[in-house]
Amino acid sequence: MKILSSLSLEEMGELLKDQPKFRARQVYDGVYHGKAISEISNLPKALKERLLEEFVDQPIKLFKRLESSDGTQKFVYELCDGNLIEGVLMKYKYGYTLCVSTQVGCRMGCKFCASGLDGLVRNLESGEILSQVLVINALLGGTIKDRKITNVVLMGSGEPFDNYDNVVKFLRLVSSADGINISPRNISISTCGLVDKIEKFSGENLDVTLTISLHAPNDEIRKSIMPIASRYSYSELIEATRKYALKTRRRVVFEYALIKGLNDSLSQADELASQLKGFPLHVNLIPLNPVKERGLDGSSKKHAYAFMARLEKCGVSATVRRTMGEDIEGACGQLRNKILKENED
Ligand code: SAH
Repeated sequence: MKILSSLSLEEMGELLKDQPKFRARQVYDGVYHGKAISEISNLPKALKERLLEEFVDQPIKLFKRLESSDGTQKFVYELCDGNLIEGVLMKYKYGYTLCVSTQVGCRMGCKFCASGLDGLVRNLESGEILSQVLVINALLGGTIKDRKITNVVLMGSGEPFDNYDNVVKFLRLVSSADGINISPRNISISTCGLVDKIEKFSGENLDVTLTISLHAPNDEIRKSIMPIASRYSYSELIEATRKYALKTRRRVVFEYALIKGLNDSLSQADELASQLKGFPLHVNLIPLNPVKERGLDGSSKKHAYAFMARLEKCGVSATVRRTMGEDIEGACGQLRNKILKENED
């Protein structure tokens, strides 16, 4: 079965070329209002039936919704094949930011991350990524014109660049003026560092904010926690990121999870600062959200601020990120794992 929200307006027109011209826009609007095919009320019955023979009725179903004491919401969605994925919704002054997943599971194997504990199950299609945005926008009372979701971050489970074609198509769909029209400036893509794909992505003219999950001041430490570091060297990664920043003229962001006793000493802050020079960048520090199964601990908040001050002293812009939704298993993959485990018991 195929996913209707994977189609652009043009592709929808092609699919419905035997229908009156306005039908494509009608179906497209219905989908962009977060509706299942069976819920689009202004379509002839025969057309609905035809669509339902070829396409899944609704690719994303809300399975669970949790609200944190800080207002962050966490969602678990069920896909049409029964797989579960997660999303996080954060409210800011300017609107809502939705964190979307790009894969079921992940095969990158980062030592501190819960998403990849069971490896990769499968890639998401572009429409399955997009429907996360459409369904939550509708849940918030938004429409295609009056969108409630203003920002999207590809920071849920999965490695976006390991699902490159679907992710690029998703970015084109979500930023299209025909659809929900979220500006690339308000979209961040986060990667653990697939250098060849960063280089390819620079040529897509998508100009979204690039975030690199760096988490180490040098090759040796990075290799000890992130298997991808054995494929691409630290210097190759920084160079590809630098080129992206210069080509797109966008500031890039480095994520750095502070892990107690491993990457959080002040001399490591100096070493990190010496690696990050010569292009517009920002470092986001976050004390590691401990994942029991991984046996690693986060640094204290106080220490995180000391690390930040040291970076700033070396001329590197940095902030300590608020940890959001910790009481609802806010870190990547934690909630899905909890539910999968509960179902096993
Ligand atoms: N695979 C992509 C997208 C995931 S984004 C990437 O690696 O960038 C999720 C972010 O949360 C990444 O920066 C990831 O490294 C980080 N992360 C994963 N587990 C974490 C944890 N336990 N504590 C803090 N950050 C974590």
